Amino acid sequence: MKVAFATLGCRVNKYETEAMVEKFIKDGYEVVPFEEYADVYVINTCTVTNMGDKKSRQMIHRARRENEDAVISVVGCYSQIASEEVSQIDGVDVVLGTRNKGEIVYWVNRVREERKQVVEVKEVMKNNAFEELNIESYQDKTRAFLKIQDGCNRFCSYCLIPFARGAVCSKPPEKIISEVKELAAHGFKEIILSGIHTASYGVDLEEDCSLLSVLEQIDKIPGIERVRIGSIDPQFFTEGVIERISVLKKLCPHFHLSLQSGCNETLKRMNRRYTAGEYEKIVEDLRSNIDDVSITTDIIVGFPEETEEEFNTTYEFLKRIKLSKIHVFKYSPRKGTKAAEMKNSVDGNIKDERSSKLIALDKVMEEEFMKKFLGRNMEVLYEQKCSNSQDLYEGYTPNYIKVVSKSEKDISGSIKNTEIVQTKNGILEGNLLNDC
Ligand code: SF4
Repeated sequence: MKVAFATLGCRVNKYETEAMVEKFIKDGYEVVPFEEYADVYVINTCTVTNMGDKKSRQMIHRARRENEDAVISVVGCYSQIASEEVSQIDGVDVVLGTRNKGEIVYWVNRVREERKQVVEVKEVMKNNAFEELNIESYQDKTRAFLKIQDGCNRFCSYCLIPFARGAVCSKPPEKIISEVKELAAHGFKEIILSGIHTASYGVDLEEDCSLLSVLEQIDKIPGIERVRIGSIDPQFFTEGVIERISVLKKLCPHFHLSLQSGCNETLKRMNRRYTAGEYEKIVEDLRSNIDDVSITTDIIVGFPEETEEEFNTTYEFLKRIKLSKIHVFKYSPRKGTKAAEMKNSVDGNIKDERSSKLIALDKVMEEEFMKKFLGRNMEVLYEQKCSNSQDLYEGYTPNYIKVVSKSEKDISGSIKNTEIVQTKNGILEGNLLNDC
């Protein structure tokens, strides 16, 4: 039997698809590309924007066109939020939510026998049981994603994720530690801790543990050389936390702190729980305690009622604090959220203009940040050969700048001391310094 997967949305979804892939392989299935004929199609959906829903529906129709007798399974955020709508789409056989993806093989096999639609979507808003969905086979030997947490209790006014992913639930710390040890034993050098709202890790657990205590324990595990945290709420970084993480040897000095707006009025409408001033203080504290720290962010432009003055406040704020990368998103209303009900939406042309202005600012700031490293020696974890090249390898510095260097030997998976010689289109070019 052949199974094909399509994954939309975030890193957590990608992680969960990998875990489902393993379950099908263990059951004897062969995994084929989504564009090919398969007996089973799994669409791991996203609902973060209305476009996410639309793309999810397009994938369902595409699977149906490929093989109209296939078992079509829809899992994830869109099916959690709109299970009835999804179950009525022509050809859909299995509908699972966000907290029972691990049951996928069981339901698919049952539907193959009985040919009767199954809709199994669990309540998630009050449910804080962490679903164990692990990846056990290790192909890439360089870095591994580890999902440590699910759900979010924040309810930003533009976001539907808390309704799709439910209440915060955390993987028990002893399981995280044993999995990291396992990954180290399989040769992984870098671990990326991910989740929906990683800063909330542990709030649901009875024992006293937090993301900080997990980071401190991982720091002592031999074999693992780098630890990264996916996107994290800026409020995680209190003065006490910054002081304690500054002595960790393995935590990489790159933090993606979503700002969303540099204007307090806009932040208030977004229901973000910090002010621009508090964010700036966190950035300053991180910079004064951690060498070469890189801070990147997300910004939404054209949020309802965002005036020219509010946008300019954000622009000037970003210009002043100089981050190393800004990802710019144009606001689009998400049905079911508070922001979608707000009046005074911003015209599309104005959103385009504001977005272009911030993208231009980002280019200047990114280049400025990268130039600081010219002539310096940096440790680069090389991941793979660049596509279309015989002897160029690409990897990342601890503060997550991409570096490309020449090597006659295969250096994938190894950390090499590298002299930075040039910046080019958002990438650093380097020369290897040690024995290779
Ligand atoms: S913190 Fe806000 S934006 Fe992030 S998942 Fe939670 S509600 Fe959504």
